[in-house]
Amino acid sequence: MSAGGRAASAPLVGRDSEPTIFELSRPGRTSYQLPTTGLDGPGLEELVPAEHRRAAPVPLAEVSERDLVGHYTRLSHRQYSVDLGAYPLGSCTMKYNPKVCDAVAGLAGLADVHPAAPAALVQGWLWILVELERGLCELAGMAAATLQPAAGAAGELTGLLLMRAHERARGERRRRVIIPDSAHGTNPASVTLGGYEVTTVRSDERGCVDVGALRAVLDHDVAGMMLTNPNTLGLFEEDIVEIADAVHEVGGLMYYDGANLNAILGIVRPGDMGFDIVHLNLHKTFATPHGGGGPGAGPVLVAPHLVEFLPGPRPVRLAGPEQSGDRYGWAMPSRSIGRVHGWHGNALVLARALAYIEVHGRDGLRRVAERAVLNANWLRRRLSGTFEVPFDRPCMHEVVFSAAGLRRRTGATALDMAKGLIDEGFHPPTVAFPLVVDNALMVEPTETESYETLVALAEAFERVVARAERGELAEAPTTTPVRRVDEARAARMLVPTFDARR
Ligand SMILES: *Cc1c(COP(=O)(O)O)cnc(C)c1O
Repeated sequence: MSAGGRAASAPLVGRDSEPTIFELSRPGRTSYQLPTTGLDGPGLEELVPAEHRRAAPVPLAEVSERDLVGHYTRLSHRQYSVDLGAYPLGSCTMKYNPKVCDAVAGLAGLADVHPAAPAALVQGWLWILVELERGLCELAGMAAATLQPAAGAAGELTGLLLMRAHERARGERRRRVIIPDSAHGTNPASVTLGGYEVTTVRSDERGCVDVGALRAVLDHDVAGMMLTNPNTLGLFEEDIVEIADAVHEVGGLMYYDGANLNAILGIVRPGDMGFDIVHLNLHKTFATPHGGGGPGAGPVLVAPHLVEFLPGPRPVRLAGPEQSGDRYGWAMPSRSIGRVHGWHGNALVLARALAYIEVHGRDGLRRVAERAVLNANWLRRRLSGTFEVPFDRPCMHEVVFSAAGLRRRTGATALDMAKGLIDEGFHPPTVAFPLVVDNALMVEPTETESYETLVALAEAFERVVARAERGELAEAPTTTPVRRVDEARAARMLVPTFDARR
């Protein structure tokens, strides 16, 4: 096996479990001492009067700094990450992120700036925000954007509030938003939160929106349609222009869920397909790693007729140099829906995204998309004898397999496959989504994985299937400190605290 494959398939987690920090605790040990005021200064008694002090200490773990660092360093070494190996988590685009983007985000001139600093002191930051907005709008074919939303779901809600503002400005009150049955779960949640009702439209046998079924639910009560393209089956919506026209004909707006832009970067643009609102996940496509709830950014891009409703204040390039000499400032759109984030969004995620765009350039971004699509199609062909491919035609950045046949033959489910892949040293793909596929395995190799890693991943899948055929997969994973957990129980009876007395 090649170096890339070896690195990707070496077991990354130890078998031994790490005690919790509370189990390492010993009374009286401490990692940190508040600075004293010197030998002659006031003592604690004078600094913090008795009535403001706790009667009993907070029940925190008591460990030395050395034990503290050891504990968390050991845990960090058990983490599977995009820096360690392939992370084929479909619909989530977990790809390797160039380090130069982190270097940029770590510059003191960017990282150490207070968000309330006046415009005159943050001209460079404002330049970054204005340039990023311009770059994203060019890539998506849109007129303007807000960079405030902190994630994809926050972008979706912002988009729906824009839809509502636009509708109210026309003196209308529409009630429904259409979503295909293959949509990401955040779409219906956002629609509900935005005050609309969800109307679901089914996919046809090609895995695309059934245009006939769509037309049947279209009327003047429809505020708009949310569409993911390529959809969550990894397929490009073939009738996209017809769909957009049909929704526009009843006065609805088209919303593009662009959480995963990897397949189309530099090739096609949502604006050219007829979309009015687009959200992008910078933490998927544009160089910020995510997972574990880390910071993200879900900018919302709009067509010209929605610019006046955008959240604000927005970073803008001033018409002429002010008297102060400032070239950039803040402006509130005339009919803004208001703020959707404190300050200016997750700014360092925004800086990373601009660095990513600048480093790649137009041609480089196009190559990202071409390679992402090539890698997914290579895996589709390579594994088409191992799993069923429900919609077996060229896919975009991800491919959805079905383990339904394997299940009938061996009893092993898509979830068992995922557990088995952990033993092979790979992060599992997305399973059980999209809902329209029985025992779905949604694999997104991304453009950053080499040919050797793809081969290693395919071979790992084949070994796991062989294990299933031998009836051994119910045991997986066997190489991890925590073995198979009862997922339903873990989700429903979550115990997020540790009780040392138990
Ligand atoms: C990830 C994703 C979202 C939600 O993005 P978050 O940043 O997790 O809120 C929405 N739609 C699709 C298609 C996605 O893949």
